[in-house]
Amino acid sequence: MKKKRVLVTGGSGFLGSHLCERLLAKGHEVICVDNFFTGKKDNILHLMDNPYFEVVRHDVTFPLYIEVDEIYNLACPASPIHYQYDPVQTTKTSVHGAINMLGLAKRLKAKILQASTSEVYGDPKIHPQTEDYWGNVNPVGIRSCYDEGKRCAETLFFDYNRQHSLRIKVCRIFNTYGPRMAMDDGRVVSNFVIQALRGEDITVYGKGEQTRSFCYVDDLVEGMVRLMENTGDDFLGPMNLGNPGEFTILELARTVVDQIGSKSKIVFKPLPADDPTQRKPDISLARRVIDWEPTVDLKTGLVKTIEYFDAMLKEQ
Ligand code: NAD
Ligand code: UDP
Ligand code: UDP
Repeated sequence: MKKKRVLVTGGSGFLGSHLCERLLAKGHEVICVDNFFTGKKDNILHLMDNPYFEVVRHDVTFPLYIEVDEIYNLACPASPIHYQYDPVQTTKTSVHGAINMLGLAKRLKAKILQASTSEVYGDPKIHPQTEDYWGNVNPVGIRSCYDEGKRCAETLFFDYNRQHSLRIKVCRIFNTYGPRMAMDDGRVVSNFVIQALRGEDITVYGKGEQTRSFCYVDDLVEGMVRLMENTGDDFLGPMNLGNPGEFTILELARTVVDQIGSKSKIVFKPLPADDPTQRKPDISLARRVIDWEPTVDLKTGLVKTIEYFDAMLKEQ
């Protein structure tokens, strides 16, 4: 295998840090670019001694001039409370960030992968979601800064391919969880695990009948790397990456409480606006093109996630 120099934007975040680790383990040189908005140095501390790992503090909404062979573009806050904190900056990160990283890829003739999201399907009317579904997205709601930013980034990727023959790959990531999720990001898995470990009430929004499909981080990273390495330059994506195991939020709450053996009670809170009612990836395309499917089921993945948050809480 040829050693490559790989740029990971958002490399100090949850998914990005696992991706940097995986790419280094494969023998590549990795440059992590991050503005540390939601990412943390702690996530990449264990990589700092590796001479093939470099960190650059930089905001992708500004131009970046470095020399690399491949780019994974992950920079963007991903949890609703983080992306809604400064919604204008969220859209700028997706759109200006994509333009800058595509400009960089164009100058270098580098291959570039976009971490898109199942949120491009909005509150989907088609279930499970296939890649040919165009989605049902509110353009003016509180989730739009994220959803529409990511949709526009996909458009830019495909136009840079058509207009400038750029080698692109686009994956649509469904809810992913695991160690190094931020404790304060308000996502459902981190919230429930932390609440159950502390013996606090488990906050289910709405009736908890809405569904999500949860993918363990190691599976997801494997899928992203396989898509990037896929040599069919005529295959661009978009490709769903996620675990098709679908659960209601109430089922997730009960599973977490049982697994931890917690005394926490389940309480019901208002459902946020535009919260998608159901979500489950159809992964036939990933199975066929990159021979990928998740191998870690929810209970197994939760064990490792619970261990992580338990250790974090003890450190506090
Ligand atoms: P995260 O918040 O942990 O990571 C995002 C990283 O991007 C952070 O390190 C943050 O500091 C950095 N960042 C944000 N704005 C930036 C900017 N302007 N310039 C440079 N860096 C910036 O979230 P994550 O879960 O690791 O998500 C990573 C990517 O995967 C995101 O693009 C997200 O949209 C996508 N994704 C994640 C999920 C999921 O379930 N985790 C699902 C779908 C898509
Ligand atoms: N860009 C960058 N690094 C590079 C090359 C370009 O950050 O190595 C940015 C630059 O800011 C530019 C954007 O990417 O505005 C888009 O580049 P492109 O070449 O597509 O467009 P142009 O330079 O004509 O605006
Ligand atoms: N959710 C919940 N309680 C929480 C956090 C989230 O019931 O403490 C719900 C949320 O309303 C949504 C689902 O869990 O229906 C997944 O939320 P998350 O923010 O993790 O991801 P996303 O909505 O972006 O899929």
